[in-house]
Order: sequence, then C-alpha cells, then structure tokens
Amino acid sequence: MKRIFFIDLDNTIYFTGQNEEQLMGELYRFLENLDLGISQADFQLAKQEMLRTPFLKVAKKYRFNEKVMPEVISYLENRSVTQPLKPSDDYHYIKSLTGRKFIVTAGFPKQQLSKVKMLGIANDFEEVHVVDVSSTNKKERFEMLIDQHQLNKDDILIIGDDAESEIKFGLELGITTFLLDPENLHPNAESTFKGTDLSSLHAVAGQSDYL
Ligand SMILES: [Mg+2]
Repeated sequence: MKRIFFIDLDNTIYFTGQNEEQLMGELYRFLENLDLGISQADFQLAKQEMLRTPFLKVAKKYRFNEKVMPEVISYLENRSVTQPLKPSDDYHYIKSLTGRKFIVTAGFPKQQLSKVKMLGIANDFEEVHVVDVSSTNKKERFEMLIDQHQLNKDDILIIGDDAESEIKFGLELGITTFLLDPENLHPNAESTFKGTDLSSLHAVAGQSDYL
C-alpha cells in the first residue's frame, strides 16, 4: 500500500482552464499594456500556452521583447492569486487518500502558495514545496524530502500531469508514478500508472475500499 504522496498542483489538483480569469486575467491585462514586440496572433497563442506551460518557457518560445522581461518577472514574483479557485471535480480522490501528502509544485513561490490558499486545501497537506526551476528541479526536491523525512521509496506514489517533470523524475528515482492525462496528450509517455481522471487512484495506491 502507498501511504506517502508527492502531488503536483497545476492541472493535477485543479485545472488552469477552469480558473482562467482568476489566474490569468490580471496578467493578460498587464502584458497587453507592455510592448512585447510580438504580433496579436502570437500573443493569443502565447496566452493559451501560459495556461499549461511555465511563463518563462512561453516568453522564450514567442520571443517576448527582452527589454520588458525584468518588469514582467518582478511582476510575477510579487503577484498572488486573490480570488477563490475551484479544485478539480476529482480532488476528493486525492483528499480521501490515507497517508502523508506533500504538494511539490514548480513556479514563483508567492503565487503558488496563494493558489493553495485560494483553493482552500492547505490543511489537506503536511507540507507545500515550491521548486524554483531556474536553480533546481523536482527530482532534487523529491530526494530531499525522502532524506529529510526518512521515507521508504516503496511507500511513495507520485501524482502529476507532467510526463517530463514529476513523472520522469519519479521513475528515475525508482518511485511509482501516476500520470494524469485527461486529454491523452502523452499516449507514449512512461509512467507506472496512467489515467484520464483520478478515479483509479485508490486502487493504484492499494486503498481500494474507497468508492
Ligand atoms: Mg502540473
């Protein structure tokens, strides 16, 4: 049975698309008032990608004007989500797991912590870890958690939607993984388990008495 859970936040516990205005409205308006040096069409595409991809990656891909980037980054570092967010309809499958739960998420700390607060889920987790991907990654954080809490890898299940981050790193560490892939975007991705929703989570964790 799995009794320790490392859980991703964005698009695992809640879906960005269902909370677009609360999450992105202000950021979109902030960006619209800057000279990003890109076409309106590219800006629309970039906005869609920001919903599922870290901002800095999107900025690089669409070649946002480098002159405005310090201003954008300082805005992102200081912003927090101030309106309630809605957890996914499947969140109860996570909440009802028996054991120790840790959120391990990547991004700007103030923003990620405010999301946890606005989702109203802070009390469901033992710890919330925000990983700064410019200096480290989730793999190092998983190792740190295992070390710090003297965890047994066999007891751990990693749950997330990013095949190239938490799932890949989990497998590299020999940890069981569950890839949430609602739109079947990663049919060939490696993961111990996969689902288009979280309804099999309890069976995967060996806690199948929950219906
Ligand atoms: Mg995610």
